[in-house]
Amino acid sequence: MTDKGVMFDSGEFSGLTSEEGIRAVGRKLESMGKGKPTVTWHLRDWTVSRQRYWGAPIPMVHCKVCGTVPVPEEQLPVLLPQDVKEYKPKGKSPLASVESFINTTCPVCGEPAERDPDTMDTFVCSSWYYLRYPDARLDSAPFDREHLKELFPVHQYVGGPEHAMGHLIYSRFFGKVAKDEGWFPYEEPFSRLIHQGIILNKGERMSKSKGNTVAPEPVLERVGSDVLRCYLMFSGDYTQGGDWSEGGISGIERFVARVWRLGMAVSMSTVNIEEAVPRDVERRLHQTIQAVGNDLQAFAFNTQLARLMELTNAIYSWVGSDLKGVTKSAAKVQTIETLIKLIAPSAPHLAEELWHQFGHETTVFDAAWPEFDAEKAKADTVTIAVQINGKLRDTFEAAAGATKDELEKLALDLEKVKSQLEGKELVKVIVVAGKIVNLVVKG
Ligand SMILES: [Zn+2]
Repeated sequence: MTDKGVMFDSGEFSGLTSEEGIRAVGRKLESMGKGKPTVTWHLRDWTVSRQRYWGAPIPMVHCKVCGTVPVPEEQLPVLLPQDVKEYKPKGKSPLASVESFINTTCPVCGEPAERDPDTMDTFVCSSWYYLRYPDARLDSAPFDREHLKELFPVHQYVGGPEHAMGHLIYSRFFGKVAKDEGWFPYEEPFSRLIHQGIILNKGERMSKSKGNTVAPEPVLERVGSDVLRCYLMFSGDYTQGGDWSEGGISGIERFVARVWRLGMAVSMSTVNIEEAVPRDVERRLHQTIQAVGNDLQAFAFNTQLARLMELTNAIYSWVGSDLKGVTKSAAKVQTIETLIKLIAPSAPHLAEELWHQFGHETTVFDAAWPEFDAEKAKADTVTIAVQINGKLRDTFEAAAGATKDELEKLALDLEKVKSQLEGKELVKVIVVAGKIVNLVVKG
């Protein structure tokens, strides 16, 4: 079978789709006692050596007497020579022509022998280089088991389907071998995989051969990297990707500029006042801290930016939408500094500039992430009285900003109210937002 389709000329199986056919043939073989369905897993074949100069030398020596002999551990690592004049392979690897490198003695018999002229494919190194991240300066060993515990397992692996089929499998394989040998403390080196979506051009995958690639540089030149970055984050679900269009980029430009003007206006204001953060801004701020934190963890970059836009709007309605005569207060500074920290992962240059504008000498990326306060994030509630024909029958708690329609619905849902209304006709509903729902009934 080369592709999925419909079976033909197959007797009783003719007309079945691939999916159905695979199961039906499996069942038949099993009933005949001639076989059974099974799943076979295998690593895709992979080139270990390359005929080229760069890459890690293969630590093997070829001796006419002893055969292929590993380089003794105390002589590792075998380093690439610096004096390579000719990098191109000529039917043999370039290293084969570098006599100072290739000629050595056999570690077993001591007779003249040759080093392996090939180098390892990059896959070999990329399958375990991550194990050096906790301590890249360690020179007595490739990595240290105790150090690995500090950073591993990797929380998040990001890669496309080609990674899932290649690098991820190989590096997991290396990790599992290292685990079995007692060098690596965990069964799995990576805890979670996310496939990034692919950005298409008019529904097609971009490729050089199709000539339909979009270069980011001209956009970058025009709008800057923060806007481009936010635009890519905002334009869709990270794992879904989507079609490239510059249609919405001006909206992001406006948003970034709004944050910039807000930060500049407040930080430069010379009119200092004392005030508290308005309750609606404080609530929005803490809801945003929670949402942005959760969304960033979940790679939901688009929705966290939407929350930041809402927060920015809320701060503007406090500070003054035209930014004329803006006053400065500890409350405003603290609120905007929190906004800066929250936006830093999405628009790092903007955040860093504004952070310094507020007088900080160190980078915003060393500042602690804002703390979420569940109490402050809670919607304020008010007690609503429910009257039927002018008599108080019940009360309920509702969000302070609930609309008249919402309050009416909540009141009519109350059990006491329902029983009072039974068999009667509801003539009129009068709602005073934030206070009372008055029901006029007949019968
Ligand atoms: Zn030998």
